[in-house]
Amino acid sequence: MNQVGKDMHLVVIGVGLIGGSFARALRQSGQVARVTGVGRSAANLQRAQELGIIDHWTHDIAEAVTDADLVLVAVPMGGYEQVFKELAKSLPASALITDAGSTKQHPIEVANRLLPDPSRFVPAHPIAGTEQSGAEASFAELFEGKLCILTPSDITTPDALKTVEQLWCATGSRTLCMDAASHDNFLASVSHLPHLAAFALVNAVSNQTDADDNDPFRFAAGGFRDFTRIASSSPEMWRDIALANKDALADKIDAFQAELSALKKALEKGDSDALLKAFDAAKQARDTWLDLHGEEL
Ligand code: NAD
Repeated sequence: MNQVGKDMHLVVIGVGLIGGSFARALRQSGQVARVTGVGRSAANLQRAQELGIIDHWTHDIAEAVTDADLVLVAVPMGGYEQVFKELAKSLPASALITDAGSTKQHPIEVANRLLPDPSRFVPAHPIAGTEQSGAEASFAELFEGKLCILTPSDITTPDALKTVEQLWCATGSRTLCMDAASHDNFLASVSHLPHLAAFALVNAVSNQTDADDNDPFRFAAGGFRDFTRIASSSPEMWRDIALANKDALADKIDAFQAELSALKKALEKGDSDALLKAFDAAKQARDTWLDLHGEEL
């Protein structure tokens, strides 16, 4: 029987914004007795210990999880293969595993292939974050009132799902269950495409010059800053998310390009009705979304 509750030993692999915030929130709600942090950067882990986020740290995943009750995997998605291989070496049969990865089919595929008992893996994606990285950026309230999507697979046991769901709720999250393929499709639209669009827009503007070698960013204002805030996110993390969801993301890029092409065509033809119709539809859709869900953001 795993020890989930006040005596719990939590192991956080990747003590960054998400892993650090999860540990802080569970500590604050009295859910854990001991937290071990695992990561690549000694300086980040040392800082996490100084901040009271973790009690101990190591670079060795297999050593850290030998007496774990709950393991949170919160590393960039390109690290999953190596992390799950190491986990599998010494994870106790009673331990529960969850993750925070921004795509969900990839973690399930890796867990099913590498874990001795993948039925105890409960995939999760907290829809919460900032463009900051590292333990220093973490805070206990990050998940407060935010959605956390759980994507149990066909073999996830109901008791594992129930316990892990309770723990995500204890961080302040509102939980919702859905299948991993639907998750990856929706998130490609509302999260992954916007990040790629922000990166692309900033690059397109940076590459622009004029005869006097003016810096175009000198003329940018609040609108440009709001649109491109997420282009300050971790490049490594976003490379991994894009690759882990490449098919769905490629479809959304096609749809976005079709919208841009239609606007370009309307501009070239001077078709004011078509422009107004497109802008009006977008404004109405966004206003409705904010009326319905603005307070949850
Ligand atoms: P972060 O960069 O703040 O933290 C990641 C930590 O993992 C770093 O400390 C890094 O040193 C460590 N790490 C990297 N590779 C590792 C490895 N192979 N083994 C052990 N440690 C390793 O990133 P974050 O924002 O906390 O994101 C973590 C995960 O959460 C990612 O999978 C990301 O997709 C997901 N996520 C991020 C956000 C967000 O807005 N930042 C939101 C939801 C989900």
